[in-house]
Amino acid sequence: MGLSKTIWTNPSEIIRIKKPDHPVLVFAPTVLQATARRFLRGFPGLVTYAVKSNPDEIVIENLLAAGVRGFDVASPYEIDLIRRLAPGAALHYHNPVRGRDEIAHAVAAGVKVWSVDSASELDKLIAMVPADGVEIAVRFKLPVAGAAYNFGAKFGATAELAAQLLRRVADAGFIPSLTFHPGTQCTDPMAWDAYIRTAASISAAAGVAVARLNVGGGFPNHRTKGRAPVLEDIFALIDRVATEAFGDARPALVCEPGRGLVGDAFTHITRVKSLRDGEHVFLNDGIYGGLAEMPLVGTIDRIEVYSPDGQRRTGAPVDRVVFGPTCDSVDRLPGHLALPADMAEGDFVAFLGMGAYSAATNTRFNGFGALEIVTALALQG
Ligand SMILES: *Cc1c(COP(=O)(O)O)cnc(C)c1O
Repeated sequence: MGLSKTIWTNPSEIIRIKKPDHPVLVFAPTVLQATARRFLRGFPGLVTYAVKSNPDEIVIENLLAAGVRGFDVASPYEIDLIRRLAPGAALHYHNPVRGRDEIAHAVAAGVKVWSVDSASELDKLIAMVPADGVEIAVRFKLPVAGAAYNFGAKFGATAELAAQLLRRVADAGFIPSLTFHPGTQCTDPMAWDAYIRTAASISAAAGVAVARLNVGGGFPNHRTKGRAPVLEDIFALIDRVATEAFGDARPALVCEPGRGLVGDAFTHITRVKSLRDGEHVFLNDGIYGGLAEMPLVGTIDRIEVYSPDGQRRTGAPVDRVVFGPTCDSVDRLPGHLALPADMAEGDFVAFLGMGAYSAATNTRFNGFGALEIVTALALQG
């Protein structure tokens, strides 16, 4: 139709010219690269990217362009993806539970860094992975508040078990390390404080000096109105507490952000299919599509509404119930969204800070979810 541009100016231009009837994720490479440089400059250690948060090749390519050289991968598919796009990059296989065929695949691909949180999975690694020059990080957990939901519910050994596993890792001739994930969208930096100090006590209890400490993902992106989370404050706390907790035995640090790196590099444009009887809003995307995370992590309230000619709606905010397009009744955003009173059918609702766990978990349930990714200079206006 001759309507596509390689790089758009901003969401308003996309809306005015394309009037997209399907959901559109708008990607700003400049924003992603700037965030990556903040991590590379500010984090006191190695920065790896958690591929699952957004595995799109355009994201990986831009992270490489910014200088990211390490990746947290969780499956043979992700291993092969990164090997193809970045043959020399470090791969950290930090899914602590793997099938034997998956382990064999990763060994053949040259993976040198693994994590583990149980005796049974460590048995598998000891049996199948040659120890020489290979690092195994024991993943532990704490009952800590601060994140959007509890990551310790699925993975992580107790501190006591972690000390036993660490001892076995060292005895088996692997390079011993520790790792944790404080929980995604972790807006309370004190979670890192507690985890890092516990890591030091696990190391002491095991009598094993750890080569590296991976402080996880969990770095927040800007999801709610007001001040954006300040990554540098978290970096400074991690740096200070690592020295306080470990002293002279301070291990090298690693982080593996997903959301904190990619979240703010995308805006998600949805369209109002109906304002049913002037009350309920039906969007063309919902919890089975790009908005899958809203019920888990909480609704994003950084929202801009545009008329089809690309003008911002500025009416007074009205709290509305918002539904997705499928016929499933759970397809609803949690609570209410404050949307401008002058909003109308056919308008566009743009959610900011939507780069993580959006495209990655989109489904075609009920025939919806024809998500398109486009590139723009700016994510607002
Ligand atoms: C998902 C995941 C991450 C990334 O988490 P974010 O909260 O998106 O930063 C990092 N490490 C591991 C092991 C993960 O599973």
